Amino acid sequence: SLNERLGSVFKSLKGRGKLTEAHIEDGMKEVRMALLEADVHYRVVKQFVADVKARSLGREVMESLTPGQQVVKIVYEELTSLMGEASVPLDLSGPKPAVIMLVGLQGAGKTTTAGKLALYLRKAGKKPYLVPADVYRPAAIEQLQKLAGEIGVPVYPSESSSDPLDICLNAREDARKQGCDVLLVDTAGRLHVDETLMAELVRIREKMIPSDILLVADAMTGQDAVKMASAFDQDLGIGGIILTKTDGDARGGAALSIRSVTGRPVKFVGTGEKISALDLFHPDRMASRILGMGDTLSLIEKAQEMVDEKQAADLERKLRKNEFTLEDFRDQLLQVRKMGPIGDLLKMLPGVNEKALGKMNIDERELVRVEAIINSMTPEERRRHAIINGSRRKRIARGSGTRVQDVNQLLKNYTQTMKMVKKLNKGGLKGMRGMRGM
Ligand code: GDP
Ligand code: MG
Repeated sequence: SLNERLGSVFKSLKGRGKLTEAHIEDGMKEVRMALLEADVHYRVVKQFVADVKARSLGREVMESLTPGQQVVKIVYEELTSLMGEASVPLDLSGPKPAVIMLVGLQGAGKTTTAGKLALYLRKAGKKPYLVPADVYRPAAIEQLQKLAGEIGVPVYPSESSSDPLDICLNAREDARKQGCDVLLVDTAGRLHVDETLMAELVRIREKMIPSDILLVADAMTGQDAVKMASAFDQDLGIGGIILTKTDGDARGGAALSIRSVTGRPVKFVGTGEKISALDLFHPDRMASRILGMGDTLSLIEKAQEMVDEKQAADLERKLRKNEFTLEDFRDQLLQVRKMGPIGDLLKMLPGVNEKALGKMNIDERELVRVEAIINSMTPEERRRHAIINGSRRKRIARGSGTRVQDVNQLLKNYTQTMKMVKKLNKGGLKGMRGMRGM
């Protein structure tokens, strides 16, 4: 899947301490292939890869201490902007009841989505009213009436022998009388876009003056959904798109291309057959789902905010020269604490489960104690831990309100860390990067 393909590209980029232009070129080739395989429109892919590459070759990545992560962040940001940055609400402007027209091919999910939207609006405190205006498809009227009954929303008693426009006009009167504020019109579809269908929809549009016209399109049809959106937009003018069946769409090509090809936003996504299976479309959440990164991005951002890159570079230099003092040890602990409870931080990493965290026994109080102990040392003691003898240990324990055993334990941990650092330094700097920002 796209998610796995991109994941392996990122893994190889992140595995490198420094990125060269060639690494980025190779990575972008992979990203391009992955997107094309996910059925993203080729023009969108071309532009996307060009944008990501240009940014990746810029300073924000090349001078970064974590270039691989920066590239991931750029891909995430560009994916988000491709899909439109923020979610776009329904347009309910104008006189009441506001009219929403649902249009699209047969089987796309219009009738189901009309019911879902009615439930969504009612939960949002609106008074929706459903209008079955598909008089051609057998049982389409009953289908919507049944859905309306399930959620207790008023529905117009359409007859399949009536004219769809008459149904709409009469339904509007009824909705007004009942004090409803949104009219949801479920229109007819065809197997293909044709003139008769468009003419009927235009006729309804001209008399009903909808505040929003939403194209309902099946995400599983990939680029056909994109073509459909363009066609309906050209002939009818649409305000947005509802992508249905995203639960069965492993590729994501329609979601990624439709905004950029048609200029119209995806407003909702259908995520299942159940009447509650409708979500507002959030480009940023979709992007992180596509990248399969849980909340890794917010973690990266959080860490970046907190750990000044220069400070991280200083730390690395000290570690390299075995100059990592107790003072640095304390500063590093402070950094960790500034990022919030360690448990919370670790939970944001993909693949970390809460049970395992419990076993790791992360103790905030322990951190506070360590900090207090180091604060009670003299500057000389912090720089040269070897001078901390028995009487100094007693004084430090008293000063920090801890026990001598606690001071001993801390010094033991510190010397062990130093030993490890020395070993790492002998074996090259491999593994050192992981310590940055802890
Ligand atoms: P219409 O012809 O456009 O009115 O389409 P329908 O509303 O009758 O839906 C066609 C089929 O798609 C039905 O079996 C729906 O249950 C199904 N469907 C609609 N939306 C979704 C969705 O988001 N997820 C899934 N899995 N099925 C959906
Ligand atoms: Mg229908």
